[in-house]
Amino acid sequence: MRFSGLRVLKEGLTGNKGWRPHWRDPEPKPEYDIVIIGGGGHGLSTAYYLARDHGLKNIAVLERGYIGGGNIGRNTTIVRANYFLQGNSEFYSHSLKLWEGLEEDLNYNVMHSQRGIINLFHSDGQRDAAARRGNMMISQGDDAILLGREELRKMVPYLNFDDLRFPLYGGLYHPRGGTARHDAVAWGYARGADQRGVDLIQNCEVTGIDIENGKVKGVQTVRGPIRAKKVAMVAAGRSSQVAAMAGMRLPIESHILQAFVTEGLKPVIDNVITFGMGHFYISQSDKGGLVFGGDLDFYASYAARGNLPTVEHVMEAGMALMPMIGKAKVLRSWGGIMDMSPDGSPIIDKTHIDGLYVNCGWNYGGFKAVPGSGSVFAHLIATGNYHPASTRHRLDRFRTGRGIIDEEGKGSQHNLH
Ligand SMILES: Cc1cc2nc3c(=O)[nH]c(=O)nc-3n(C[C@H](O)[C@H](O)[C@H](O)COP(=O)(O)OP(=O)(O)OC[C@H]3O[C@@H](n4cnc5c(N)ncnc54)[C@H](O)[C@@H]3O)c2cc1C
Repeated sequence: MRFSGLRVLKEGLTGNKGWRPHWRDPEPKPEYDIVIIGGGGHGLSTAYYLARDHGLKNIAVLERGYIGGGNIGRNTTIVRANYFLQGNSEFYSHSLKLWEGLEEDLNYNVMHSQRGIINLFHSDGQRDAAARRGNMMISQGDDAILLGREELRKMVPYLNFDDLRFPLYGGLYHPRGGTARHDAVAWGYARGADQRGVDLIQNCEVTGIDIENGKVKGVQTVRGPIRAKKVAMVAAGRSSQVAAMAGMRLPIESHILQAFVTEGLKPVIDNVITFGMGHFYISQSDKGGLVFGGDLDFYASYAARGNLPTVEHVMEAGMALMPMIGKAKVLRSWGGIMDMSPDGSPIIDKTHIDGLYVNCGWNYGGFKAVPGSGSVFAHLIATGNYHPASTRHRLDRFRTGRGIIDEEGKGSQHNLH
């Protein structure tokens, strides 16, 4: 079933009776060539690109809950390619290019909106850092514009320009950045993978990984054992738990990140805006809700909900930046489990176990990486070689100390990245 304007019109006129489920609900087979643990954005996009780019079909994605129930459906939907360091800059550039063709590719409306991102700066020092970052983005082939205070005021006049503590000096504008509808991204990739023969198996928690003589043989699940030639661990916030099933200890800590949405308002915020003096960022959804968030809750946990001190911190930062936000009523808040790596950059690699692969360490920036991650990870699994856009996301960088991609210069403390 293909989606088109004509189809929507026809269905609208004939009682919407022709729509079909987006994907099948298959029983697990006893054996697959490739088993992917985790049906989040990264697991689904990996399956999709394995099938689309490498012609592999005998693949299962095993999801302990339902498709879209993890972080892929809990994030604040920001998509950007504004990284500074080699390793990340070419990777996120690759990912953004895939975003730009994604809707046609998937034949699915993921509501990708390149409304632009503005990172604010509040001092001369921050302006210098923004200019350096912008130059790196441009040299990587992406876009960046350094906005002065008055140019910024024309674009976002509602900000608190003359706050005594945090005066606004300008912003680094990334026009190709923006947002997309997060769960539609999961559904679009799920549908695309299913159409290419991938089995998506929900309510199928993996409870063990079978290894014999240093080679992976399959997995144990709540729905029975499944043999596999290759197994990919793509479990985001639960990566450490899944890797422990293979006897591995990953350099990952799981932390909570919260997000907030207000009641629907008339259009007021055109772009994505990030505060430079506190952890706060905001955009407005197509339904009108202001979508915003801030820093991690400061302790490791597997509970997908946060606590009030962080709520207070985020609200205070929001009020400092745009006092008008105080009039909006917060409708919902929630938390997600972040797989924080020591340098704040992802891990996309083979493991020391033959046939076992790992994809994790997405921190709070893994949504924008979904297309790029799936494409480079599929390349690695199918060919055994690293994709040119992801040669540095090695697992052993934390053991050897070589190749660390510490984007924010925060050192090796997981919850500071
Ligand atoms: C509040 C919040 C805001 C965020 N904002 C942004 C943003 O604006 N931009 C951005 O780029 N990123 C953002 N992120 C980060 C982004 O959402 C994550 O990095 C990304 O979604 C993680 O990858 P995933 O989609 O594959 O994860 P998930 O959707 O969590 O997928 C992992 C899946 O693995 C499954 N699983 C776990 N264990 C097992 C098992 N044993 N067996 C089977 N299945 C298992 C889980 O159920 C889950 O569905 C945000 C995250 C949060 C929580």
